[in-house]
Amino acid sequence: MLPVQWNDGESSSVNAGPIFLGGKVDNGLRKFYQEVKAWKYDILTTLPEILVLSKDNHWIKLKNPRKSYETLIRSILISLHCLCFFKSKPEASGYSLWVHLSKVSSLYDIRPSENDLIDHINFLREAVKRDETLAKSKFLAAFLENPRKRISFDEDAGAATKPSFIDDDINGEIKDDDIITNQTEDSESDDDYDLFDTVCAICDNGGVLICCGGKCFRAFHATPDFEEAQEANCESLGLTSVELEGLHLQRYKCENCQYGLHQCFVCAELGSSDISSNTEVFRCSSPTCSYFYHPKCIAKLLRKIDKTEQQILQEKIAAWEPFICPAHKCAVCKQPENEMVEDLQFAVCRRCPKSYHRKCLPGDIMFDHQIGDDDEVRAWDGLLSKSRALIYCTKHEIDPELATPARTTIFRNILNRKTATTQEETCCQADK
Ligand SMILES: [Zn+2]
Ligand SMILES: [Zn+2]
Ligand SMILES: [Zn+2]
Ligand SMILES: [Zn+2]
Ligand SMILES: [Zn+2]
Ligand SMILES: [Zn+2]
Repeated sequence: MLPVQWNDGESSSVNAGPIFLGGKVDNGLRKFYQEVKAWKYDILTTLPEILVLSKDNHWIKLKNPRKSYETLIRSILISLHCLCFFKSKPEASGYSLWVHLSKVSSLYDIRPSENDLIDHINFLREAVKRDETLAKSKFLAAFLENPRKRISFDEDAGAATKPSFIDDDINGEIKDDDIITNQTEDSESDDDYDLFDTVCAICDNGGVLICCGGKCFRAFHATPDFEEAQEANCESLGLTSVELEGLHLQRYKCENCQYGLHQCFVCAELGSSDISSNTEVFRCSSPTCSYFYHPKCIAKLLRKIDKTEQQILQEKIAAWEPFICPAHKCAVCKQPENEMVEDLQFAVCRRCPKSYHRKCLPGDIMFDHQIGDDDEVRAWDGLLSKSRALIYCTKHEIDPELATPARTTIFRNILNRKTATTQEETCCQADK
C-alpha cells in the first residue's frame, strides 16, 4: 500500500490513508512506531536494501521483517531480489535468475516462481522503465511483455534446443549464464504446472493427499484410514482426524522440510539441505524436480566413466553450479520428454532418477494389462500427472507384500539421525 518514491523530486500521488511502520530499532533496544509516507529501494548492493520515509522526511532502513509478516512481504522481496540480480548482471538468463533466487530467499520455504513477479508486475514495469541497466535485460523485457508466459527452462518442454547444462554429455561443459531457455509458447497451460506430487511419498498411491508446504513438493496420505492408503498398505503420516482438522487451517510441512534434512535420491542417506551453511544435498535445478543429491552421488551418475571429470563435476555441484539430474532424459535414447506425442511421454521410476520414453521402455517393465502369470506389474498409468507412467525400474526388487519396492528409501530416518547426533554429543561431553 505504501507508494514507491522513485526519485527525490517526485512526490507520489497515491493516497492510501495513514500507514505506520512498527518494529524495533537500535539492535532491538528501542520500540519504534511512526507514520510513514513512501518507500524506496537500493539495488546497487549485493542484496537489495529497503528504505521507508517517515512523515518528517527521514529515511529509515529496514532490516528484517517481523516473523508474522514474512509471508506477506515474500513476493515483493523476491521481486526486489530479481531487480538486484539483473542490475548487476543484465545479460543473465532466466535460468540463472531462478538459481540465484532460490539461494537468496532461504528465508522462505516456498520456491520463488514467476507468480511472485506477476504479483508485482506494475512495480517491476516502472522499475525497469526507470533504469537503463535493467532495461537491457532480455529476460525482464520478455517477461514484462508477456508475464503469463511461463519461461520454461526445463527440458520438459521437449524443444530441440540443447541446453548447455551439466548433463550426461561427455563433452558437457558447464557455463552458467548461457544456459538455455526452451521457450514454448503454447504447449503448456498454467493448469498443468502442477508442482506437487500426485501420489503419496510413502506408498506411491493416489487419493486424498496432503501436500508439504516446504521445499520437497511431496504429498502424503495423512491417515492410514483413507481408502487409497489402506489399499496400498500405507503407514501414512499417522495423523488422527483431530490433528488432520487442525492441519487444514495451517500449512503442513513434512519432517524433512522442518529439519532441513532431505534424502539423496541415489544413496538414500539423509543430508542437510540447509542452503545457508554446510549443505550436503543439493536439489536438481530443473524447477519441477524435487530430488536432492550428494554432489558425489550425482556426479557418478552424470559422468560414469571418467574419474577426473567426476571429481570436477562433484566440486562444481558442491559449489552450487546448477545441474540436471538424469530423470529428465530417456535412459535409452537420451532425448527429453514430449508430452504431446504418446511414444515420447515419460515413464518415471519412483525409486531412482531413471526415466524412459514409452517407446523405449524395456520389455521387462510391464503394465498390468501386459503381464503374464509369472510377471510382476512394474508400470502404472493414471497416477502421475502429465500423462506420465509411474514405474519401478528393474533395479529395485518388488516386495510381494507391499507390491512396491521397499519404502525405506523414501521417507523418514529423521528421528534416527537426531538420536545419532545426540549420542555423539553425549560422547564428546563424556570425553571432556
Ligand atoms: Zn500413502
Ligand atoms: Zn517437505
Ligand atoms: Zn547420496
Ligand atoms: Zn531432476
Ligand atoms: Zn527414449
Ligand atoms: Zn529405478
